[in-house]
Amino acid sequence: MNKQNTKNTEWTIENAENTYRIKRWGNGYFDIGESGDLMVIPRYNEPELKISLKEVIDEMQSTGIEFPAVIRFHDILRSQVELINKTFRSVIEETHYEGSYLGVFPVKVNQMREVIEEIVDVGKRFNYGLEAGSKPELAAALAYNTNNEALTILNGYKDEDYLRLALLGRKIGRKVVVVIEKFSELNMLISLSKELNVKPIIGLRIKMMVKGRGKWESSSGERAKFGLSIAEILNVIQLCEKEGMLDCIELLHFHIGSQLTDIRAIKEAVQEAATVYTQLVKRDVPLHYIDVGGGLAIDYDGSQSTNDSSCNYDLTQYVSDIVSGFKQHCDLESVPHPNIVSESGRAITAHHSCVITKVIGEIHPKGIGSTVFDTKKATGEHITVTNMRDIAQVLSTENYQEAFNDVQALKEQAIQAFKLGVLSLEEVAKTETLYWQTLEDIEQIISNHDFIPEELKEIPELLSSQYLANFSVFQSAADSWAIEQVLPVVPISRLNEKPTKLCSLVDITCDSDGKIDKFIGEGAVTNSVPLHKLNADEDYFIGLFLTGAYQDVMGDMHNLFGRLNEVHIFSYDDDPKDFYIEEVVKGSSMESVLSTMQYTPAILAQSVKKAIDKKIQQGQLKPREGVNLIDFYEDCLSDYTYLKA
Ligand SMILES: *Cc1c(COP(=O)(O)O)cnc(C)c1O
Repeated sequence: MNKQNTKNTEWTIENAENTYRIKRWGNGYFDIGESGDLMVIPRYNEPELKISLKEVIDEMQSTGIEFPAVIRFHDILRSQVELINKTFRSVIEETHYEGSYLGVFPVKVNQMREVIEEIVDVGKRFNYGLEAGSKPELAAALAYNTNNEALTILNGYKDEDYLRLALLGRKIGRKVVVVIEKFSELNMLISLSKELNVKPIIGLRIKMMVKGRGKWESSSGERAKFGLSIAEILNVIQLCEKEGMLDCIELLHFHIGSQLTDIRAIKEAVQEAATVYTQLVKRDVPLHYIDVGGGLAIDYDGSQSTNDSSCNYDLTQYVSDIVSGFKQHCDLESVPHPNIVSESGRAITAHHSCVITKVIGEIHPKGIGSTVFDTKKATGEHITVTNMRDIAQVLSTENYQEAFNDVQALKEQAIQAFKLGVLSLEEVAKTETLYWQTLEDIEQIISNHDFIPEELKEIPELLSSQYLANFSVFQSAADSWAIEQVLPVVPISRLNEKPTKLCSLVDITCDSDGKIDKFIGEGAVTNSVPLHKLNADEDYFIGLFLTGAYQDVMGDMHNLFGRLNEVHIFSYDDDPKDFYIEEVVKGSSMESVLSTMQYTPAILAQSVKKAIDKKIQQGQLKPREGVNLIDFYEDCLSDYTYLKA
């Protein structure tokens, strides 16, 4: 954390920006308002249009929408689709590149219908298409990507029905490209296309030698799950030639991994793919699309580094390296410039949605809540307790370092003494209470010092709290749990007020993995984030940001919490200061999550009712009370799964 922030100097919005790095990960879509509220700037080309997230939350509360909830900004989604298309177009123009850009959105990154609809709608004028990796995704793509000029790219392993669906797409005039991942898929495709009498468009996925960088680097290299070796590519060409289908091979595809943190990996991949491309074209393979896959990264931690949750480049650099890489290579080999396809998913959707949750409690290392234990001296008490109290009493700006060492040692002693049965429960309670008090007092002293001795730097961390938030990590931040992905966590308001508590977050699942303890830090990732003291009379909402890619749709049913309530926000064209909730998608009810696990809610209610009826017959429950109990049980079944807090 910024040194300035820990001192008791006046807190400004700049301090908040330094702490949470909103501008650095926000890609221009987020800012802090004068009043200390977090603002959303949903259109990249209208920076003066700002929506207060607090106002959105107020509006949701007033219409009875319960939290936690997902807030989706469709304008951000539209902005990102426009940005990637416009960037490719302008770089292509500037560099006099002769091909055009025909991007596709990979459905697996966010399959929500509303997301796909929006992307297809804004993408229409750029002939922006969809990429599918499975039969259900293809079924959706065929129905939604109705633009015959836009591509539909098919990746993933394919069976006969998958290929039949693809050829159905060809029959209705769509540019469906079957990317061959495995030689056997080609045999099947050739015989099906003869049977159905339709010409396929074939793509070849290269098994790349260059390694991606970051968490997904195993997507390339010899042991990669997908792609054709050079030998296989040559065999594919031979077979197509024999079948008179060489002219069907139009696209060359590669994908070296998601969240590519280092631009060098992209440059190297372009080199390798361009080499294969030009060589194949020179052998009369009529390729005219090069598909560079996904991998365009998001700077989740705002460090612009090669950290796993960051990247050392921006959209323009990414696009420039791709366009100029192919141009140079093709010019050198006198091969026409291919049309460029990219399959960026993360970069299109990450910014547009966030998860809003309320902090509903604090778990302090001292214990839950703020109960105090009386530490008064008792006659005949153990010497450890007395020593601990003496240190607390004489603590000063002169001896605080010594005091820290002493209380650490005494705490250890107390634990040993308790195990040996020498210390009573009351005495343990007193030593613990005095220990935490002393640490808090030392923290107070050092917070006013410029120099902090190395070993005392752990004190704020030791004293940090866990804030209990009403959400499930497994549902709403799967990658935080699975791959230690850093997601920005920011309070929705009070950003003009100094956050005085170092916290990590715990969720409401009964799983000790249900926590977030990786946050944006100074340079490196840290284990706590500064948040505000909870006020008794005020809700404290925090947001998990950049959750629109993968996180949105990968959540699981741990503890049967299920999907979140969701609102879709649009800004008005005529009054850009304002917003409206275009759609509310209700999250999971208890009966819906139970049904997915094969329970029948009516049978559950019957069973509980039977038990209640029996108690009524036995005279142990009044009939009216019994009716109320069963009504309550049934009401619960139709309610939201998360805490009503
Ligand atoms: C997952 C995937 C993508 C999307 O990658 P992002 O890094 O999210 O852009 C693109 N293409 C293929 C083949 C994929 O498997």
